Amino acid sequence: MYSLYLHIPFCAHRCAYCDFNTYAGQEAMIPAYVDALTREINFVGQQLKDHETTRPGDYSTIGTVFFGGGTPSLLSPLQFESVFKSLRAAFTLTSDPEITIEANPGTVSYKALCELRGIGINRISFGVQSANMEELRMLERTHDFFDVIEAVTSARKAGFDNLNLDLIYGLPEQRLETWQTTVKRILDLHPEHISAYALTLEHGTPFGRWASKGLLPLPNPDLAAEMYEWLGETLEANGYIQYEISNWAKNVEGRKSKVMASTFDFRPLTPLLACRHNLQYWRSLPYLAFGAGAHGYANDYRYSNVLRIKTYIERITNPRSTNLQFPLSPAAVNQHKQTIKDNMSEYMLNNLRLIQAGVAEADFRSRFGSGLMEAYGTEIEELIRLGLLERASEVIRLTQRGRLLGNRVFLQFV
Ligand code: SF4
Repeated sequence: MYSLYLHIPFCAHRCAYCDFNTYAGQEAMIPAYVDALTREINFVGQQLKDHETTRPGDYSTIGTVFFGGGTPSLLSPLQFESVFKSLRAAFTLTSDPEITIEANPGTVSYKALCELRGIGINRISFGVQSANMEELRMLERTHDFFDVIEAVTSARKAGFDNLNLDLIYGLPEQRLETWQTTVKRILDLHPEHISAYALTLEHGTPFGRWASKGLLPLPNPDLAAEMYEWLGETLEANGYIQYEISNWAKNVEGRKSKVMASTFDFRPLTPLLACRHNLQYWRSLPYLAFGAGAHGYANDYRYSNVLRIKTYIERITNPRSTNLQFPLSPAAVNQHKQTIKDNMSEYMLNNLRLIQAGVAEADFRSRFGSGLMEAYGTEIEELIRLGLLERASEVIRLTQRGRLLGNRVFLQFV
């Protein structure tokens, strides 16, 4: 089964820490962009049909669709409708697809949310980041926490019963107390899913520049680790299950997360309301990418589209060549044909992020035809000795300490 990622590279304003492929003040290009997006969908949909004819029984249906950005909620419901029309014509969606949009609080009205729900979007991920006004101002977010409350209330009224709220911790000068207040306020909103990422200072962002000139205090890594641990304990105490390094989901049917370790199919995870789309990434399963700067993985290609909006529209509207290998569209500018070694290495990096499910020996063998210990025995034994990995019935996974030192673990498999 494939997943689809659609990138919407428009934002009302660029936040000071953001290095995503997104542009402010380009909204006039949205209609042409939506038109190009539908053309790219039609093109790749046809490629997939041809590919399936030559390789029957491969993958044929779409289980998840994710509109990321940028700020997808800047598109009107009518524009989403035209994208959906193309999606439904080009691909076969399963009977219960997970369809997510990312949205910024303050950019969605109750009316628009009702329309989006009516089109079939059934999950929203709101970029909240903090409940503290000073922190939001420092990040140059354009909303306050009242916008968050209003957005969540409107989404509930519009019928959304699967909400994610995104948070960032480890901000310069952030105190443990302000972080704790943010988390408590988030819990008051009862989201089904919470994502929390430590701030990273990226090159080319205002935060990166200010920090390199000494104008912005660097985040304190020990304090960030304390915030992460407090978050984990607090969310667990409030009925959330951590299923990935930075992601927690509600256990809506009271079923224990052990189902995760015993299966490689994500349907049984539904009671956990884990993000099925992201599970596709973390399990190294294929996804098709659409839009400027979008990254995809299918047919053993890792590929990405051209970054700039204008060039993307031009490449799709006036393609130089249409004789391209599935899943590459005329917008693709980077492509890498994966070797088995690449796939194995990425499989380890991705699956180890799933802190309970981890890497299952049986799944590894069924994917690659060789044993996990045969491929990575030395690395795994060393990381177990260091207390960063553990064995838990047929599964290798991160320890509590390993979760804090994930990058140290992942390096062993690169
Ligand atoms: S709203 Fe999101 S995508 Fe847009 S600039 Fe801010 S962090 Fe980046």
